Amino acid sequence: MSRIRQLDAHVVNQIAAGEVIDRPASVVKELLENSVDALATRVEVDVADGGSELIRVVDDGEGVHPDDLLLSVSSHATSKIDNADDLFRVRTLGFRGEALASIASVSRFHMRTRQPDSDTGYEMEVRQGDVQQPHACGCPVGTSIEVHQLFANTPVRRKFLKTTSTEFGHITEQFTRIALANPRLHAVLRHNGKIVYELPATDALIDRLRLFYGREMAEGLIQVESESEGGRLWGYVAHPSHSKSTRKGQYLFLNGRWIQDRALQHALTEAYRGLLMTGRHPIVFLFLELAADDVDVNVHPTKNEVRFRDSQQPYRQLLSMLRTKFLSADLDGSMSMPESNANAQSSPTPERKLELQHELADWAKGELASWTSDRSPVFAPQAEQSATTLAGTPPQFAPFPGGAQPGEAGPAAHTADEAHTDLAGPHGPAGRAMQIHDCYLVVETGDGMTVIDQHALHERIMYEHLRNRVLEGAVESQKLLVPETIDLSARETSLLLEQQELLQQLGFGIEEFGGNTVLLTSYPVLLSRADLVQVVRDMAEQFDRPGQTPTRRDTLDELLHMMSCKAAIKAGQRLSNEEMESLLAQRHLIDDAHHCPHGRPTALVLSRAELDRQFGRLG
Ligand code: ADP
Ligand code: MG
Repeated sequence: MSRIRQLDAHVVNQIAAGEVIDRPASVVKELLENSVDALATRVEVDVADGGSELIRVVDDGEGVHPDDLLLSVSSHATSKIDNADDLFRVRTLGFRGEALASIASVSRFHMRTRQPDSDTGYEMEVRQGDVQQPHACGCPVGTSIEVHQLFANTPVRRKFLKTTSTEFGHITEQFTRIALANPRLHAVLRHNGKIVYELPATDALIDRLRLFYGREMAEGLIQVESESEGGRLWGYVAHPSHSKSTRKGQYLFLNGRWIQDRALQHALTEAYRGLLMTGRHPIVFLFLELAADDVDVNVHPTKNEVRFRDSQQPYRQLLSMLRTKFLSADLDGSMSMPESNANAQSSPTPERKLELQHELADWAKGELASWTSDRSPVFAPQAEQSATTLAGTPPQFAPFPGGAQPGEAGPAAHTADEAHTDLAGPHGPAGRAMQIHDCYLVVETGDGMTVIDQHALHERIMYEHLRNRVLEGAVESQKLLVPETIDLSARETSLLLEQQELLQQLGFGIEEFGGNTVLLTSYPVLLSRADLVQVVRDMAEQFDRPGQTPTRRDTLDELLHMMSCKAAIKAGQRLSNEEMESLLAQRHLIDDAHHCPHGRPTALVLSRAELDRQFGRLG
């Protein structure tokens, strides 16, 4: 007997409803979005009992044509897109043609609508998915939709509803998002007949913010704006003295749509880093306007998540806009600190206000300085540093003068004549050294000669240095201006995130980005020259050893080895005299310089006696 059956339309709609409509607030959201798409100038929302008894949304928009009435409540029917390409040209909030069908399948749904050029209105009812024949009626221009007894036919879902006030809280949030994104829309919200919000239309977002959050808060807001090739970003951000314990004060809109975006949230955290105490989150109202084909809004049924064609661009724009603003001189002027006494404890004194403003400016200056380039030159090795390296600064060996990179013919390229240098090292009297095969250093010593593997020695030095730094908790770490996104396997992602703390000790800032992507936000200065993305991949690979759970100590040690190997000069790298000198001078720092961390010898010693013996110079 066959067992697979095509589900009937009712069931299909109920399944779809489960995705889009999970509580009264989602009904309010979808209906309000439709009113906005219908170019309404006024919308009134009435809610009874947290939305479980009644949700009514009345707008003065363009209405539904009588021929479209039945279609409007059938699934995948929309007036907003035509074909798949249109998905990348979406300019409306809706486009899935799913909401009304979903809502009508789990409620008693009643619609009344009239188009502006028509004298007649129409009404239609759908009872838990059963569509009744529409008929003419008298009604004002626009659309009125009533949703009674939500989830009455899906008792499980109805049982999952929370208290009236919780559900109404969610409704308020949805209403707020639409109201903030559309200040020109006159919007009213009532609960059980009482007005909760009455927001007159305005051209200025700040008017609306004042109504929602009060004068004091609105006056403390800092206006921001930035234009880039990619798009426009503008809005208001709160002064750091106003913050929240959750991200609920963060409103991000993309082309009029409220969105949730981890990367942008991260950019906000970064922008306010050092200005807020841990656990506090900034309050922002930001609007991003991008070309429709630069974003994919068809990521999730609720349309709250989007995918950017270039995810780095908005991140970078947001971060640098806020940094620049915090730095700018007019910040002080534009900032009027809250004057309220209502909250005497948390309201800073005038002295503290001044202090805060100075802190803000100082902090921003410092931050920006260390940010001037992606890989900051702040810690870049300099030739004259090689002498001081001994005194505890990192043995950042590689003072390639004039910026010539290893292997390049540059000022560092040397002739055979320059290829040796006099050494007054701690290993005996003045000796001379030369590099051979761009790989070994041959050093004359008091009682013979030593051949040193340049990579092995440098690796050893790096390892010791790094290990000491880790033990002291003092690894120099450098922030990336634009964090790198790194795609990994699901397993590697979770393994890497599990080790966040350990990696932090090593100077790596690794953060969750969503999906199988992590963000590299900072890196150990020692690895300035390394391919950082590759380093992170290698580390993830190291963690991924099925069936083994190495101790934390082993893991740390392996990572130290790997990092020192990556940071060290390579075989085949030509060294200048100073570089050679610097490397050899650090030799004595190491307890066990004769072996690289992998155990290979770093040096071969040939004594004078052995040389003489080999050449038959006896006596
Ligand atoms: P979508 O918004 O994704 O198109 P919906 O199920 O929300 O899907 O709505 C279906 C269609 O019904 C819309 O495309 C629109 O043509 C019409 N419609 C819904 N609500 C309204 C409204 N308030 N005013 C005018 N037309 C509406
Ligand atoms: Mg819709």
